[in-house]
Amino acid sequence: MDAFDLDAIVVGAGFAGLYMLRRLREQGLRARLLEAGDQVGGTWFWNRYPGARCDFESHDYSYGFDDRLQQEWTWTERYPGQPEILRYLNHVADRFGLRADITLRARVTTAHYDEDGRRWTVQTDDGTVASARFLIMATGALSAPRVPDFPGLDSFRGRRFHTAAWPGEAVDFTGRRVAVIGTGSSGVQVITEIAPRAAHLYVMQRTAGFVIPSWNRPLTDTEVRAVKDDYPAFRDRARETFLGVYSRASAGPSALAVPEAERTAEYEKAWSAGLGLLGIYGDLIIDQAANDTLADFIRAKIAEIVTDPRTARLLSPRGYPVGPRTETAAYDVDDIVFATGFDALTGPLLAIDIRGAGGRVLADEWSAGPATYLGLAVSGFPNLFPIAGPGGPGVLTNVVRTIEHDVDWITGLLGYMGDHGYATAEAGPGEQRAWGERVAAVAGATLFPRANSWYLGANIPGKPRVFMPYAGGLPGYRQICQDIADHGYRGFAFAR
Ligand SMILES: Cc1cc2nc3c(=O)[nH]c(=O)nc-3n(C[C@H](O)[C@H](O)[C@H](O)COP(=O)(O)OP(=O)(O)OC[C@H]3O[C@@H](n4cnc5c(N)ncnc54)[C@H](O)[C@@H]3O)c2cc1C
Repeated sequence: MDAFDLDAIVVGAGFAGLYMLRRLREQGLRARLLEAGDQVGGTWFWNRYPGARCDFESHDYSYGFDDRLQQEWTWTERYPGQPEILRYLNHVADRFGLRADITLRARVTTAHYDEDGRRWTVQTDDGTVASARFLIMATGALSAPRVPDFPGLDSFRGRRFHTAAWPGEAVDFTGRRVAVIGTGSSGVQVITEIAPRAAHLYVMQRTAGFVIPSWNRPLTDTEVRAVKDDYPAFRDRARETFLGVYSRASAGPSALAVPEAERTAEYEKAWSAGLGLLGIYGDLIIDQAANDTLADFIRAKIAEIVTDPRTARLLSPRGYPVGPRTETAAYDVDDIVFATGFDALTGPLLAIDIRGAGGRVLADEWSAGPATYLGLAVSGFPNLFPIAGPGGPGVLTNVVRTIEHDVDWITGLLGYMGDHGYATAEAGPGEQRAWGERVAAVAGATLFPRANSWYLGANIPGKPRVFMPYAGGLPGYRQICQDIADHGYRGFAFAR
């Protein structure tokens, strides 16, 4: 590869980057993918902690772009574990011969746009420099792990781990005193694996989450056959659901419109089927009273399962302090496992010194929160395209479905530019502002912003409190993007 003779640079080798690279090559574009990790797989390479598992079903959480791939790959469990997803992504990299255009252990540190040459130049932490017309950021929404700055942490002499930077080799917790900090998705998963091995496990919980059983199990041959025989319809239906999943049930538009006994029966049914409770009624994410009915149901389940009433109360969603030295007690531990999450959505992008037209700095432009057009472009940063970025629906959906959409849409845009002889595409500032207002309005009509979550940046001190994802669901988002494409990529300024 000539690092200065590229059409496109893709950053990140997870679901997004691998598929993007494949599409760029199909377009006949010369592309190189730069990945910080020493393997492909993104999330599923970094999060190798025991118990790591996807919470969408395997047939949903997989690529749909190639039928031969769908037919030859056989998922073994209802919810795929991290090792199986990592094997799958490695298979994809081999299957489509992608490795030849991937450089591993290459963390991009700077990306600067040269207006005269109309090219992006990137530099990696080992000093490699490359330049290309297009810069596609497949850097992931949850790839910048966060370790809270606890006073005294430096003096801790034991082993410490972060779930999102887990070592490749197995970690033995036998006979050790372990603290797991955080009870989000990763914390809950890792706790159940460490508990049986450790001499003592301390779980440091600030806020109890709504944890529901997944009822994972091996898939039967009949189940696998049924999906394989019908993949096109399966994918079509998934794309038409709010979350982008085939396998979620819905009992109706409103939890409040049905008698309590009927509602509870539906919740029971969903509880025993596994996950997906939030999709049972259409108003659960928009109406507090509706949502309360589900919250009460889950709290009642916790009270039923956890026989000690005090523990049950603590595990029922409320706010609590966090840390090996909590506000009330100190604990001696050998190991600390940080399951403390990520600087989500903006973190991976702002970790890079990105400078666009006129030398404008992305970190400055986003000092009050991220601003994008559709989550797919940034005004002032021509030919820079984030995938499943802030302003898109990604993290509120089956991310793989959104990624496929985004990659296809970006590919369509690049094709359009090629057909018209355009060298650059840049989102207009007015359209970007309007999109930001739309994202905020849609979020404001839901209950999402009421929780102090990472969607809002609430887990990072000093991060602007802006609800970052588009909460309007995948079908609506697809429709908007399609409409914009059909109108000559309305909102973009093109230059030859
Ligand atoms: C523990 C965990 C569980 C999850 N479970 C689900 C789930 O059940 N369902 C769901 O839909 N989603 C889930 N997600 C979200 C998941 O991140 C996405 O589904 C999907 O894997 C994202 O793919 P991606 O390619 O966009 O990003 P990633 O998989 O995060 O890949 C991004 C890659 O970019 C690389 N990178 C970042 N910055 C740089 C840089 N500066 N230079 C070079 N390389 C860089 C990273 O090293 C990483 O490999 C989960 C995430 C985590 C962390």
